[in-house]
Amino acid sequence: MKTEKTFIIIKPDGVQRSLIGEIIQRLERTGLKLVAVKMIVPDENFIEKHYTIDPEWKGTVGEKTIKSYREKGLKPPYDDPHKVGNIVLGNLKKFMTSGPVIAMVLQGLHAVKLVRKLVGGTEPFASDVGTIRGDFVLDSYQLADIDGRAIRNLVHASGSIEEANKEIALWFKPEEIINYRLIQERILYDVNLDEILE
Ligand code: GDP
Ligand code: MG
Repeated sequence: MKTEKTFIIIKPDGVQRSLIGEIIQRLERTGLKLVAVKMIVPDENFIEKHYTIDPEWKGTVGEKTIKSYREKGLKPPYDDPHKVGNIVLGNLKKFMTSGPVIAMVLQGLHAVKLVRKLVGGTEPFASDVGTIRGDFVLDSYQLADIDGRAIRNLVHASGSIEEANKEIALWFKPEEIINYRLIQERILYDVNLDEILE
């Protein structure tokens, strides 16, 4: 459990908004350990690979999008979730290749769920106050859909341990993930607490 890993991307809007430090700080200060980090400009093929790691994603995201159109009383562009998923993917390809991104791996207790909690819900307008997406950006599906673009929500974070493992393998070589000890892990995880007092 203590070595659970999750994968995070600071998307091009996070880099352009000068939020790299703020975002890493929020994740890091929980006690999670940064074990890999790099800046890259991904290409469209790579982004397609990333979002289609889960073969169900296109359908799920398409369904979600169709539902959000209908809730607003709008007609979705297609009734077929896969076709709508393709539009979302096309928008994401354009967005995610528009500039550098920061890719990273964080490790620690319940890393996947903890990071999702700190990141907040997908749509910044609806995500909770106190989360990264709730505090630092204001985009909505409504405007993103009218403008036919990806929602600007600063970060990607793995949704499950399985997704994290696949994403880490796609973005990092095994030797880019560093095994090391942090001094603070003693107070976070040590059962005996026998190394504090002299
Ligand atoms: P995440 O895990 O919270 O980032 O959300 P998903 O994995 O479900 O979706 C990935 C990305 O697809 C999001 O960051 C959005 O850019 C986009 N997306 C997801 N759901 C919707 C939606 O309902 N409408 C629109 N326009 N875009 C969406
Ligand atoms: Mg996701």
